[in-house]
Amino acid sequence: MISFQEALNIVLDSPVETKIERILFYESLGRILAKDVVSDINMPPFNKSAMDGYAIKKEDIEKELTIIETIAAGQTPQKEIVTGTASKIMTGAPVPKGANAVVQVELAKATNNKVKFTGFFKDNIIPAAEDVKIGEVVLKKGQKIDARHIAVMASVGCTEPLVFKKPKVGIISTGDELVEPNTKPELSQIRNSNGHQLVAQVMESNAIAEYFGIVEDTYDSTYQAIKKGIETCDVLLLTGGVSMGEFDFVPQIMTDLGVEILFDRVAVQPGKPTTFGRKENKIIFGLPGNPVSSFVQFEILVKPLIYKMMGFHYKCPSLKLRMGNIFKRRKADRRAYIPVTISDDSKVYTSEYHGSAHIHALPKSNGLIIIEIGVETINEGELVDVRLF
Ligand code: AMP
Ligand code: MG
Repeated sequence: MISFQEALNIVLDSPVETKIERILFYESLGRILAKDVVSDINMPPFNKSAMDGYAIKKEDIEKELTIIETIAAGQTPQKEIVTGTASKIMTGAPVPKGANAVVQVELAKATNNKVKFTGFFKDNIIPAAEDVKIGEVVLKKGQKIDARHIAVMASVGCTEPLVFKKPKVGIISTGDELVEPNTKPELSQIRNSNGHQLVAQVMESNAIAEYFGIVEDTYDSTYQAIKKGIETCDVLLLTGGVSMGEFDFVPQIMTDLGVEILFDRVAVQPGKPTTFGRKENKIIFGLPGNPVSSFVQFEILVKPLIYKMMGFHYKCPSLKLRMGNIFKRRKADRRAYIPVTISDDSKVYTSEYHGSAHIHALPKSNGLIIIEIGVETINEGELVDVRLF
């Protein structure tokens, strides 16, 4: 049995192929940039008025001025401000030549074509290129794209960014006891929740999920399914069949198919029997059958690898908060992930949790806390890291 950190290092040290493609920027949500994005313009492109008001020479603030022009946003000023003149100007419009301030309309009294001011506040001019200069890198390679980055791409005309290709991740559920969710299970059966949970986790990781269904616990059908999965996918995920049971064929079949098994036990609870193998540039995870184990192992080992294949260093969002209750465990030989709930006053409470089959504990929780090897007790008031869902 190896530690979590050793397992993660082995997984992330796998030689993986990253491929790139060009896609439309508005379809790039969740993808990872494969090249810096550079601005093709200054922003703002001109000295811009921050207010509706009058463009003037600051020195003229005490004088009555003649209005020579009205400049709307989107218009180019036609007249230069000389002493004794003002142009009416709207927010977002280019400030005319010769002006060095915009006095807001609230401080102006205008009659016919004349204007006088009751005070002065500030310049109200946003200088050209204050936000971004032409040629400046506005988004870096390796950035995961969300709505904010899509806005930035739109503003600099990057309509077809270069991104990393999504790896294809196959999912196979093993188990004679499994039926699909649309079937009511007989007494000895259970619904396949894992397979669908994994499909969703792969999609949340922005990779392509290929669901291969349930295979029965015989050597031949499991062998054929794994063989096909390895041939057609970059990563293959199996659930179940990795324990010590008489029908747990997965590790044997992996070996028979020429997959090199790099570990088959990890000191993590839940999910000890997680198995990891490679065949050339293909990657195979044998995940535990219990759904909470499978969920956790995907989050801590599979997701970082999928993201690595897309050029991204994944780190789970987490919060450092104080425990609201004491937590004790009897055995401390594995690193434990325990579901917790965060109260309105930001205290962390361990959830009602019956173990790795208790899938219903997860939607009722906000995240997981980590309890390191050797730690038996976490006291009320102690600071803990909460990995958020
Ligand atoms: P196994 O590793 O195959 O021995 O499975 C361990 C436990 O997880 C057993 O109780 C299985 O019934 C359960 N299990 C296996 N596969 C799934 C699945 N796809 N969905 C839900 N539970 C499963
Ligand atoms: Mg099984």
